[in-house]
Amino acid sequence: MNQENGLPTVLIVDDEPANIEVLAKLLHSDHRVLFTTDPGRVMGLADQKFPDLILMDVVMPGMDGYEVCRRLKQQESTQDIPVIFVTAMGEEQFEAIGFEAGGVDYVTKPVKPFLLRARVKTHIDLKRKNDLLKRLASLDGLTGIANRRTLDEFLHQEWHRSIRNQSHLSALLIDVDYFKKFNDHFGHQAGDLCLKEIAGALTRSLERKTDLVARYGGEEFACLLPETPLQGAIHSAEKIQQEVAALAIPHPGSDVAGIVTLSIGVVTFTPAKGQEPETLLAAADELLYFAKQSGRNRIQHPPIA
Ligand code: GH3
Ligand code: MG
Ligand code: MG
Repeated sequence: MNQENGLPTVLIVDDEPANIEVLAKLLHSDHRVLFTTDPGRVMGLADQKFPDLILMDVVMPGMDGYEVCRRLKQQESTQDIPVIFVTAMGEEQFEAIGFEAGGVDYVTKPVKPFLLRARVKTHIDLKRKNDLLKRLASLDGLTGIANRRTLDEFLHQEWHRSIRNQSHLSALLIDVDYFKKFNDHFGHQAGDLCLKEIAGALTRSLERKTDLVARYGGEEFACLLPETPLQGAIHSAEKIQQEVAALAIPHPGSDVAGIVTLSIGVVTFTPAKGQEPETLLAAADELLYFAKQSGRNRIQHPPIA
């Protein structure tokens, strides 16, 4: 969804500037309107500006609107943008092709203002509801950070990217120390609040846009750091520990400190074909186990080469 300002963004594609003007006039008061007369520029614009909807002319020189629509639907980053075709009456016979190409609706030229505005509104509302559902399905309900499903998807995606680029992929597996005792002492609600605070601290600690912080389950969290060598990942783990220590959440039941602390397993792979992505988290889990065994409130990682 476009977040630049509160207004939904509509991209108008038509080789005839006069047509763009007509449509823009109808929409500009309550939409951010972008336009292009060049069908070849649509993919790039859609990728950069995330329009909430595209109004697409059909007959254009170079590439017709159906083909542009097909391309939008083939690419993950643009496939959810609804496309409404705007056609001259004579093209109505081709409506079926437009729907097959992935369009959601048709309006005919000359456009009836109320009809165009109503259809644009309907499809933008639907798009925004879908966006919201998708977002909710990808987040953990308690902490608001990514959930396990999102972590798994991200892991697969980054694993294959790392194979292609021969780059490092690091993982941190994080477990709260003596958290059962925390619940026993303060109650489950306070425990929930504590997990939220920790999620916030994790998010603050990782500054790269490409890093992912997720709730792995219960009182465990996982971070995936693409293109990050071991030393960088250890640095991130140290930052996380400092950030959580700075929260200074009292934990009288802890045997290692009077405040809430974390144990962290850190690993870095340069993934190879034939290896399963899950081996990364399994390795981090093993090191996390050692961190627990050797006293908790510590970071365990393989020797730095
Ligand atoms: P260790 O240092 O070995 O990790 O000890 P621990 O007590 O943290 O580990 P254990 O696995 O024995 O217990 C985890 C506790 O985390 C038990 C469970 O009640 C609590 N927990 C898991 N999920 C939640 C949650 O969503 N909210 C709250 N409040 N507690 C949770
Ligand atoms: Mg645990
Ligand atoms: Mg624990």
